[in-house]
Amino acid sequence: MTNDENIYLASVLRQKLKKEPLFHIINGECVPSLDNTMFANNSPHDNSFICMVAEGKSQDVDRAAQAAKNAFPSWSTLSIKKRRDLLYSIAEIIEKNAREIAILESLDTGQPIRFMQKAAIRGADNFRFFADKIVNARNGLSLPADEHINYTVRQPIGPVGIITPWNTPFMLSTWKIAPALAAGCTVVHKPAELSPVTAQCLTLLMQEAGLPPGVVNVVHGYGETAGKSLSEHPDVKAIAFVGESKTGSSIMRQGADTLKRVHFELGGKNPVVVFADADIERAVDAVIFMKYSLNGERCTSSSRVLIERSIYDKFNAQLTQRVKNLKIGNPLDPKTEIGPLISEKHLQKVQSYVQIGKEEGAKLLAQNTTDLDKSSGHYFSPTLFGDVDNKMRISQEEIFGPFLVSIPFDTEEQALEIANDIRYGLAAYLWTKDITRAHSFSHKINAGMVWVNSQNVRHLPTPFGGMKDSGIGRDGGDYSFDFYMETKNIAIAMGEHNIPKLGAQ
Ligand code: NAD
Repeated sequence: MTNDENIYLASVLRQKLKKEPLFHIINGECVPSLDNTMFANNSPHDNSFICMVAEGKSQDVDRAAQAAKNAFPSWSTLSIKKRRDLLYSIAEIIEKNAREIAILESLDTGQPIRFMQKAAIRGADNFRFFADKIVNARNGLSLPADEHINYTVRQPIGPVGIITPWNTPFMLSTWKIAPALAAGCTVVHKPAELSPVTAQCLTLLMQEAGLPPGVVNVVHGYGETAGKSLSEHPDVKAIAFVGESKTGSSIMRQGADTLKRVHFELGGKNPVVVFADADIERAVDAVIFMKYSLNGERCTSSSRVLIERSIYDKFNAQLTQRVKNLKIGNPLDPKTEIGPLISEKHLQKVQSYVQIGKEEGAKLLAQNTTDLDKSSGHYFSPTLFGDVDNKMRISQEEIFGPFLVSIPFDTEEQALEIANDIRYGLAAYLWTKDITRAHSFSHKINAGMVWVNSQNVRHLPTPFGGMKDSGIGRDGGDYSFDFYMETKNIAIAMGEHNIPKLGAQ
């Protein structure tokens, strides 16, 4: 797709969005908020109007939760074959609409189209993967004892709430909704208020593929109102949440009265540790890709690069050159590598860390200030700081933008200490050709996922999630079913084991 083709398709899709506000989807129908309130959704590229969005409140969440509760008995008992076929049909319909999904995602989030082209394909993969796993979801263990046969089964926990962030909303929504549906749960989805378009699109496509009314419901709105009500609702048995760590704490508090089960995928400040014996060229490629793709708005991004001192200057020089060369521009242009950040507020937050870094005494190595009309869009100049001390705020706080800090180290022990000296523990990356070090370092680092000599390559059966303030629980493979399902043990007596007789004289 050329730039012109993308811009043309985007304008066609925008005409439609302008005319039809995004309403909630409850029990299969698009409905406005009960109090008819709406808010405007604008483009990160130039702040132009995209669409109006219904602003959900507690009464709208209540309607959606009721719909999910009513749909649960029939959805949770649908035959394996029918449910699997339906998830396959959803995957197919997503793929058929991949181009539109990519354009809408790019338009709504500011993410470069070159990365969003795969969003729909990855979403479809999620549905196919969990469709294939349905057959084993209920299976459990056989745990024989002397006088009993014990076996475990799993059953869906009930209606669940899914709350998603704005950075890559389509892929992340499918990542949560596909296993929930495969497990037999019904869903109320609260997408991020800053990028609600593709969540709507996904649910409408699922319905077109034959998903019965009420199985997936969408309530738009703000976190503090719609999200809060969802996490407090008594009929919603669990909350799968992706977003900031402090929002995770709020959700935990909000869900306490109803003893909500929670699964949290939260923030990160992930280290990449580069030893002198590494394949330097590939390590540079990976560091740049993992920090500057997706506008740096990526939970698993490589935000802190720790470099062995003997190669520190050489490595930084290569990083600096690459940052200066990054192509910033309209996210719909296939050549663009960096688009605008999601909102003015987020831009100001990311921007503020440039001043903080300077005041903390770090060295500004690169700032890509490509001449671009940034007057109304939320464009940030990709930034690299060197000579960073890990105690600095720019090294400790999640900035969530194209902003990289580089830290030198002298010994393996020191590298480990720096890597682990952080409140987060989502992902870590390690570059070395020493196989013993690769294993031992990986075991000692406190992160839920470690990639060695690799960028973040996702394999769906593997566990995804973080330690420390980066999350609770794991997604992926069978791990997802542990969250969306209850495990039950069934014990059947074999023969006549001893039952003490009370009150029998
Ligand atoms: P956010 O926490 O501000 O918002 C996420 C969602 O939570 C939104 O839908 C929002 O409306 C809702 N929300 C806000 N307050 C709420 C409340 N009190 N109760 C219920 N819901 C509430 O996060 P964001 O700014 O949209 O996304 C960026 C964050 O997401 C970053 O910290 C990033 O690291 C994280 N993230 C993590 C992963 C992961 O897998 N670990 C993946 C993507 C993004």
